[in-house]
Amino acid sequence: MTREASYFLPSYFDAQFDAVIHFAGLKAVGESAQKPLLYYNNNLIGTITLLEVMAAHGCKKLVFSSSATVYGWPKEVPCTEEFPLSAANPYGRTKLTIEEICRDVHRAEPDWKIILSRYFNPVGAHPSGYIGEDPRGVPNNLMPFIQQVAVGRRPALTIFGNDYNTVDGTGVRDFIHVVDLADGHIAALLKLEEADIGCEVYNLGTGKGTSVSEIVRAFEHASGKKIPLVKAGRRPGDAEIVYASTEKAERELKWKAKYGIDDMCRDQWNWASKNPYGYGPPDSTD
Ligand code: UDP
Repeated sequence: MTREASYFLPSYFDAQFDAVIHFAGLKAVGESAQKPLLYYNNNLIGTITLLEVMAAHGCKKLVFSSSATVYGWPKEVPCTEEFPLSAANPYGRTKLTIEEICRDVHRAEPDWKIILSRYFNPVGAHPSGYIGEDPRGVPNNLMPFIQQVAVGRRPALTIFGNDYNTVDGTGVRDFIHVVDLADGHIAALLKLEEADIGCEVYNLGTGKGTSVSEIVRAFEHASGKKIPLVKAGRRPGDAEIVYASTEKAERELKWKAKYGIDDMCRDQWNWASKNPYGYGPPDSTD
């Protein structure tokens, strides 16, 4: 079978695809520096293959999960979609490259409709407490780490950097509730139904900056747990302050985040307290 022929599904799979939301990808910044080829292979080749399969099936509508990491250390905030782009590590470079690939694909074949969603910092969980994030090994991201300290799986949270030019010296990010983020994808899918949207990029954030210390305090309040802290130097590659301009998404996608930091921490804690070891048994995750 040729490579292209393998893109066609067996005849018993008689389905039509209207659009694709492409969330898949490796996302650990540190790991990407140690294993760049793994990241380029998985994220880039995976996306190229997906685009080829979509084209083979005549499906040319895509929503792709990009990241605010493409803004690097922004010179100012809020970050608008027109800001200059850069990558500080192989993970970021895969996001940047996939954005470029999508622009090229659209340039070559203008009947493609593509939305590049730049995620800021997704946190929280489904309010039911049944669906949440369950990273393998030591969490890279702040919120899963805080959660694992709160349930007693780790002794303390290390705060990377307390000498930033911010409200309390810790880094500032735009945390967005995963349910708001999910709604942003529905809005993007609806946008793909409009004529000639081309290849467009939208920030999915709240437009509000919250410091690392502020989110720790909000989580302590939501959980009633004390989070022991260890101070450490800045994490290489981290930016000082990153938050989104939400104007374009509000105007063109008619979408705006509804939830605040307290909602995010409440739902994160609801998930964590019901599932302290995520989806696995107590010894399966570390
Ligand atoms: N952070 C921290 N301790 C951790 C993980 C993250 O202090 O164990 C800080 C990190 O330095 C940054 C913020 O939390 O200022 C958000 O980091 P995260 O990795 O969650 O997202 P990023 O914005 O880096 O993609």
